Amino acid sequence: MAKQFAVIGLGRFGGSLARTLARLGAEVLAVDVDEEKVKAVAPVVTQAVQADATDESVLRELGLKNFDVVVVAISAFEASLLVTLFLKELGVKRVVVKAASEEHGKILERVGADTIVFPEKDMGERVAYSLVSGSVIDYLELSEDYGVVEIAVAGGLVGRTLRNLNLRNRMGLNVMAIKRGDTVNVYVNPDEPLREGDILVAIGPNEGVHRLNQILERG
Ligand code: ATP
Repeated sequence: MAKQFAVIGLGRFGGSLARTLARLGAEVLAVDVDEEKVKAVAPVVTQAVQADATDESVLRELGLKNFDVVVVAISAFEASLLVTLFLKELGVKRVVVKAASEEHGKILERVGADTIVFPEKDMGERVAYSLVSGSVIDYLELSEDYGVVEIAVAGGLVGRTLRNLNLRNRMGLNVMAIKRGDTVNVYVNPDEPLREGDILVAIGPNEGVHRLNQILERG
């Protein structure tokens, strides 16, 4: 059976999340106090309901207890806190909450939020990475020290092979996949020469990403 998700709050973040989950084949219950927001996602999600989630009885009636994951995507902190608390009291296994700041995140954790996401902070970091270097296309932070990076092959890397570059030993970077045009190759051949424009998807320490980036910048 498809995983069951509920998304409470259908602003830019919650709305996009609900649509994407539905597109990925998940069952999605979308909830918002604003009827217009509910109408907008209704055609794509499994069920869309107009309700005030800060009312505990509403959460109970919606049967949220039985969902695999419930996402709270309301920016107003008090409301978000209250809904998170009620959901955990109802026994929801996994509650994911959008937070605007680390302080809010800490408090949300205290009331039982299982995962806190910081969309603005995360996106800021990703955009910063891609601006600082022309080579880093995307970056996903795994921890303060490690991340997954997409980096474009150029300059001195063109024509070299992964075996010969030895990124793992030199920089701690593991190349998981290579994107070339529309194809993604996850069975990376260490002896195939890299081409200009290939995109390496690598995992490793930020320090390693930085060093690889410097090499690319030097050309
Ligand atoms: P985003 O950054 O995701 O666009 P936002 O800051 O624009 O969010 P918010 O005010 O946080 O918007 O609201 C997100 C959504 O949550 C809105 O569509 C709003 O109607 C909805 N919402 C706010 N309070 C509640 C509530 N108590 N119950 C259900 N939905 C709510």
